[in-house]
Amino acid sequence: MAGIVVVFDFDKTIIDLDSDNWVVVDELGATDLFNQLLPTMPWNSLMDRMMKELHEQGKTVKDIEGVLKHVPVIPGVVSVVKAAHALGCDLRIVSDANVFFIDTILNHLGIHDCFTEINTNPSYVDEEGKLRILPYHDFHTCSHGCNNHVCPPNMCKGLVIERMQEASLAKEGKKRMIYLGDGPGDFCPSLKLKEHDYVMPRKDFPAWKLINENRHLIKAEIHGWANGEEQQHILLQIIKAITIHEERQFLSVDSKFQTIPINAAHHEALPKALPVRY
Ligand SMILES: [Mg+2]
Ligand SMILES: [Zn+2]
Repeated sequence: MAGIVVVFDFDKTIIDLDSDNWVVVDELGATDLFNQLLPTMPWNSLMDRMMKELHEQGKTVKDIEGVLKHVPVIPGVVSVVKAAHALGCDLRIVSDANVFFIDTILNHLGIHDCFTEINTNPSYVDEEGKLRILPYHDFHTCSHGCNNHVCPPNMCKGLVIERMQEASLAKEGKKRMIYLGDGPGDFCPSLKLKEHDYVMPRKDFPAWKLINENRHLIKAEIHGWANGEEQQHILLQIIKAITIHEERQFLSVDSKFQTIPINAAHHEALPKALPVRY
């Protein structure tokens, strides 16, 4: 069952709000400077600047960790992540938050080890004890090259998905992808998904609206979810449907081997991972 890759956005898809807003505005109260600087710089640069501000106000990395540990999560998300992992799916994250926030929250929820990849903005604690947040893509050097106006300069999630598609095709043959997200940045990766993939946008959120306005551009099957219960139910249903479909394909190929002589061309067309039984 390693044939299914489930890619989660993080903010408003695993947790129930935006982690940057939660730390800076809701909990640690740097609202005034945040509002003042917001129109003047890209979000990713603003977050690094806000971490400097929090440090100057005497807020420590421990304070930030404490705040992250009581962030509200999507109800049921911990059990659905564990269930999908137990079913053999390859789970990954693609997020415009940062490594420190995501690692802290996933470790606290006890699901960090369920994920094989976390693709997000790098972060580290510097020698002064200040959290630094860097861009995933260093846009000061050059653009990431995606022209989609909803992709921020520091990260095009569509390019991350394309990299995953190329890597899996090269190594393990065709995989099916299920992508879950809510924000405008989740629209570009939705465009990259193929016919056999699935996109699960959060209903009435920006990704869902963009997908609905551009349905002709989406090749993947679209399944919206409005709450944790629907997210859990739909994701597990899709995994089940793919698994049943693949088992049937396996059985039909298996029986063909017993009745039809194997010719080279037929043999070549089989997926590489398929065990051949006689
Ligand atoms: Mg999000
Ligand atoms: Zn893009």
